[in-house]
Formats: sequence, C-alpha cells, structure tokens
Amino acid sequence: MHGRPCEGTDRQRPSETADVKMSSSEEVSWISWFCGLCEVDEDFIQDKFNLTRLNEQVPHYQQALDMILDLEPDEELEDNPNQSDLIEQAAEMLYGLIHMLEKYQQGDFGYCPRVYCENQPMLPIGLSDIPGEAMVKLYCPKCLDVYTPKSSRHHHTDSAYFGTGFPHMLFMVHPEYQPKRPANQFVPRLYGLKIHPKAYQLQLQAASNFKSPVKTIR
Ligand SMILES: [Zn+2]
Repeated sequence: MHGRPCEGTDRQRPSETADVKMSSSEEVSWISWFCGLCEVDEDFIQDKFNLTRLNEQVPHYQQALDMILDLEPDEELEDNPNQSDLIEQAAEMLYGLIHMLEKYQQGDFGYCPRVYCENQPMLPIGLSDIPGEAMVKLYCPKCLDVYTPKSSRHHHTDSAYFGTGFPHMLFMVHPEYQPKRPANQFVPRLYGLKIHPKAYQLQLQAASNFKSPVKTIR
C-alpha cells in the first residue's frame, strides 16, 4: 500500500508522460487542499514518535522533513531542480500525513454517531476516486462504516481529494492508532424481550391471512 489515494482512476490519458505527471499531482491534491486549512505545530512534527514509519512511506523523507522544518537544504539539491520538485511533493505528502493524524486525534473530523462506537473520532474518505463524482464522507475506523458529514464545509469537498484509500493509508503508516472493533452491538427489544429473527415474517404472514372487514368507526 502506497500513499496514493487517487491511484487506479480511469481518466483521459493523453500520453504516458502526461499521465505520470497527472497522477503525481493528484497524489498531493488533497494534502494541498488540507494544508490550506491550518498549520501543524512544529513541535508535533519534531516529535519523533509521530514520525514512526513515515520514513518508509514517504520518498525523500529526510530532505522533505528538513524542508518542512525550514532547515538548510543540501547544496547538491539546490543545483538539481528536478530533485527539489520531488522533495517538495514529498514534503507536502509528509506534512499532510502528520497533519491528518493530529487532526484525527483531536477529533476535528467529528465523532462516529453510532452509540456503541463511544465517540470514536472519524476520518475523511472518498467513495470515489474520480473528481466531481461524489462529495467527501466520514469513515469510522471502529464500525468500518461511512457517514454523511454534518458540517456543510465538507459537503463541497470533492471526495477525490481524499480517495477511497485515505484512512487505510493512515493506519498502514500508524497501525497503533487503529481502534479495536466495537465491543457491543445494538440488540432490538420489545418490552425487554429480544425480537425473534422470524417475528416480522410471521407478522406479515398473519396479516396476509387475516381479511379484516373495512369499517370506519365514528
Ligand atoms: Zn462507528
């Protein structure tokens, strides 16, 4: 699994080179959008704990981190504009991942409305990787279901920004943040008694057998 929320989409492919360029800019598009919303605390970035395993997922990790933290780039890099383009993209991706994790931990995307998920923070997800096809939804990593966001801010966010794989990518990088499945499940009861799985079926049968006289009580 790579950090490619938009991988595998079928779009116009004018040429091989253009396609490569296109998919690499799509990869960071949701991050670009997200980075516009607020800033990551520099201390949070420097905290090595938060960066565990990110170095395996993000290409040019060390240079990208230096770029985010505004450290002096290598002279070698400055002489190579192609390389520094790649690092800029990597920096954006790294920044986005760190950022998302922080937002998720703070519950900035809201909490799962399901009672037995006990206020589990949610993550943004797309139901489609094709731009313009669907608006962003919220994913609960506990019950593994998706919800319509309450905030109108999300209603205008194209789901292709996040892609169908975003939360899964985050938990690939940080499996320690993946919550356990819910311990409890809702059980339908009537007068305190569990409803038999066949109860509704029996009711339907009984109703179809019973021909009641049509009579209006006045
Ligand atoms: Zn849930």
